[in-house]
Amino acid sequence: MCSVEQLDPDLEDASQVAGLLGPQTDQDIDARHPQQAEKFREIRQGFPSVIREDFFTLKLSHPSAELYIPDGRPPAQAYARTTHLGIGAHPDDLEFMTWWAILRCFQSLERGFTGVTVTDGRGSSRVDEYAGYSDDEMRSVRLKEQKRAAMIGDYAALVCLDYSSAEVRSRESRLVEDLIEILEATRPREVYTHNLADKHETHVAVTLAVIQALRSCRHRPDKVYGCEVWRCLDWMLDTDKVVFDVSAHENLTMSLMGVYDSQIAGGKRYDLATQGRKRANATYHMSHAADRASCLELAMDMTALLEDPSLDPAAFVLAHVDRFRQDVELRIGRLSQK
Ligand SMILES: [Zn+2]
Repeated sequence: MCSVEQLDPDLEDASQVAGLLGPQTDQDIDARHPQQAEKFREIRQGFPSVIREDFFTLKLSHPSAELYIPDGRPPAQAYARTTHLGIGAHPDDLEFMTWWAILRCFQSLERGFTGVTVTDGRGSSRVDEYAGYSDDEMRSVRLKEQKRAAMIGDYAALVCLDYSSAEVRSRESRLVEDLIEILEATRPREVYTHNLADKHETHVAVTLAVIQALRSCRHRPDKVYGCEVWRCLDWMLDTDKVVFDVSAHENLTMSLMGVYDSQIAGGKRYDLATQGRKRANATYHMSHAADRASCLELAMDMTALLEDPSLDPAAFVLAHVDRFRQDVELRIGRLSQK
């Protein structure tokens, strides 16, 4: 199904967010917080003044993992206001692929965006001012850039998991467990990550971990989207594309990408390329209609992989590829019969 979502202010019920203080059912509370179950039930019944930080401590695998909350609120409140969760492989992926989710939550009382960055940036390429940086210094620069973006984008929270790319690709890490922890703490309505046809192996490894975590955790979001970075989604059938209008706040989206000086300064103009792709999407989406948007973001709806846990991710994405193949074949066949 193809849908163009606009940034109009269809505000949702604020009470839904106010009630989302972490685990909701008695079973959840007993399982996650056995020592403090009684206290948590009090909180759920409307005594937010007694919220304690230790109810909401994420148990993450790497001791160097970091939680950053730009506005300094307690974690409980940051998780409570999270409605959209972005999970990107590298520091910068969220700012290249999840404009829609970030803009939707920007300055909103009803919605909040939390970002998860899986890898540490240690293996990044480095030139110019960064050429002599050690791996640790590069990690530090990229973490600082990611935090700067979270501040600019008004994120509810940012979680940097600090995995190496090799760990993620080996699939022997505890990434799935970490993602379950985050999903159950933030309970997002929508999840955004890389799409399964991306050509970067670390991106696809992250997506597979996200799918596994979503299938194993006790929270089920309404939607899971695969977004564009290393390969666009223009090849998908129009009827399969999810299309988000991200024309608004161009200054903001350019700022979000612009903080990644360590990646851009060396001659990879990811900022211009990403904006260019979204501009191209806007013009090439409809052949016979005038442009209604200046930037469109495309996504693959991967919710079916949650609805049917037996659905193989490879079979799911190859069905999209098959439909693309059939589309090309049918058109040429039709035009060749004249
Ligand atoms: Zn990446």
